[in-house]
This record gives sequence, structure tokens and C-alpha cells, in this order.
Amino acid sequence: MNEVCVICGDETNVSEDAPVDTRNYYVDTAGQLCPTCFYDSYHPDTPEDIAGRALSDAQVYDVFKNPWGKE
Ligand SMILES: [Zn+2]
Repeated sequence: MNEVCVICGDETNVSEDAPVDTRNYYVDTAGQLCPTCFYDSYHPDTPEDIAGRALSDAQVYDVFKNPWGKE
């Protein structure tokens, strides 16, 4: 079984057994989100964000930590 998104109820690709610190799109105060709801709720659309969605999952964390960073 996979987790479902706490907002829209869609099934995610995250296993229920996965430790939360290894998960993508997991929010401590909310729970597991799907990528769509994660970006909609916590990451307003900017050109940088849209570009970020094309990056690998590992890089998503960097974008989230420093959403307005320009390097
Ligand atoms: Zn969702």
C-alpha cells in the first residue's frame, strides 16, 4: 500500500512503510502530500518552481529550503 495525499486523496508513490525522513513531499504538520498539492500549498508557482519540478527528487529539497535563492 502507498500513502494517499492528505489534501486530494490521490495515491502517492510513497510506501506506507517508508520512514518520513526519506519521503518526498511529506510535511510534518500535515502529512503526506502528492507533488501537485505540495507545490500548490507550500510552494507558489514561479518560473523557478516550474523549473524545479523538472529536477530530480533529491534536488527538490534544496529548492524547498531556499525557494527564492538565486545562487
Ligand atoms: Zn494531492
